[in-house]
Amino acid sequence: MRKLIRGLLDFQLNTRSNYRERFALLAQGQKPDCLFIACADSRVVPNLLVSTNPGDLFVVRNVGNMMPPSDPKGNAKGDQSEAAALEFSLRNLPVEDIVVCGHSSCGAMKAVLGGGVGPENPNLNGWLEHGKPALQRMKDNPKLGEGLPDYDRLSQHNVLLQMEHIASYPWVKERLDAGSLRLHGWWFDIGTAQVHTWRPSLGRFIPMDELVGEALLRELGTEGPAHAALSNGNGAPHLSVAASGQ
Ligand SMILES: [Zn+2]
Repeated sequence: MRKLIRGLLDFQLNTRSNYRERFALLAQGQKPDCLFIACADSRVVPNLLVSTNPGDLFVVRNVGNMMPPSDPKGNAKGDQSEAAALEFSLRNLPVEDIVVCGHSSCGAMKAVLGGGVGPENPNLNGWLEHGKPALQRMKDNPKLGEGLPDYDRLSQHNVLLQMEHIASYPWVKERLDAGSLRLHGWWFDIGTAQVHTWRPSLGRFIPMDELVGEALLRELGTEGPAHAALSNGNGAPHLSVAASGQ
């Protein structure tokens, strides 16, 4: 806690003045255009990774960067907190993009891989259920993440699984189908501090280097998601349209 208090005092003394105007503007309301879903892991720091400012990202963080799936009526199957954030951000904020960001050495994925955690963690065990279908996906598609440790392969499959969960909400699917919303799968390798992006046409995550970043920017265009060509061209439903390009 000492670190936090010293950090806070340092912010007030040295940094706050640089943000005065921005926060004064933000006090009137927020207009983030991206919902960013990441793991609660302390090593994953969304605003640092994408160099964003206060007000830029609407962030949901939880154990394993997960979103419980929806029933046909749009009600979350399980915990409602994440779905509430999804609802709020899509209905009240100008969100045009959703990023699901998994990461390497994820404790949640290690736990799912190991069959859960001890009975003294009933809530955690219950929550991890939302990641279990990723195990089957890993069996069905052993190529994804080939060469990585099993928990990292599972983590990549889990990103795709959670993207599907998000797209299972009817009002999300409507917007994906209408082209007013995009869904992106990212995976952060902690050791190299490198973000990898899901490429449906390649069927794998690739490092978001300068070339890939420039290609993605070109695909995104300048006029928002309705004008971006992000489909993988096989006519598959929202996940392929959703995932970051081809
Ligand atoms: Zn994690």
